[in-house]
Amino acid sequence: MMIKIKDLVKIYRTEEVETTALNKLSLEVKKGEFISIMGASGCGKSTLLNIIGMLDAPNGGSYLFDETEVVNFNEKQRSNLRKANIGFVFQNFNLIDELTVYENIELPLIYNNIKLVERKQRVTEILERVGIAHRAKHFPLQLSGGQQQRVAVARALVTNPKLILADEPTGNLDSKSGNDVMELLTELHATGSTIIMVTHSPYDAQFSSRIITVKDGEIISQKENNHKVDVL
Ligand code: ADP
Ligand code: ADP
Repeated sequence: MMIKIKDLVKIYRTEEVETTALNKLSLEVKKGEFISIMGASGCGKSTLLNIIGMLDAPNGGSYLFDETEVVNFNEKQRSNLRKANIGFVFQNFNLIDELTVYENIELPLIYNNIKLVERKQRVTEILERVGIAHRAKHFPLQLSGGQQQRVAVARALVTNPKLILADEPTGNLDSKSGNDVMELLTELHATGSTIIMVTHSPYDAQFSSRIITVKDGEIISQKENNHKVDVL
């Protein structure tokens, strides 16, 4: 089991209010699964994704990532594990506008202390794989939204992460570009990647292998999805 989460609790405290964002949530994810997390706004989806991605820590419960308990990890330990294992794709792409496509994709490799020759090889390979090699020298704002999200997926993938986390990856895209990005994620899933995606779109969720619905910080339903959308 890649992820084993049990009774996860996350409480946000401000001076006046206390919000229970995750209320003893339990979830297991196997290597190679493609999971969609759905649910109304405010139900705890982003909180869950952020904790799975080790951007944030819970207040209670257990989180085993590849058999390692990480709930009591400090910031530095989480950051190290995150950089080595997890690729992120966001709704707003989060590319650096001042860097070229090539440089954006190269950045996580620099953070992981990969040497120049290997960086070049890996970036070149991933550019081909996501179909944007001809745009390597362009800047993000010279690309369409769909192309920018392909760059973001390439950046998430270039370190060969064990896990890809996508938070509303098609949220800012028109339906054609959104579909292209979902097809790309489906191809990654088909070649063995493990993906967890938060989405509001029932259409996008059909590309995944299991659909999870969260309500008030708890999982209220899980269903295997055998009616996958055919990729053209
Ligand atoms: P979703 O992604 O499903 O919209 P979130 O995980 O963002 O839900 O939020 C879950 C709950 O926690 C909401 O009630 C939200 O207002 C609250 N919340 C999220 N982040 C914070 C924060 N940094 N401080 C206080 N409350 C927060
Ligand atoms: P460090 O501070 O140890 O250098 P960071 O936390 O800055 O590491 O970044 C590690 C990875 O996590 C990067 O890929 C970055 O994009 C992502 N990341 C960090 N913080 C956030 C955040 N608040 N929201 C989304 N992604 C984040």
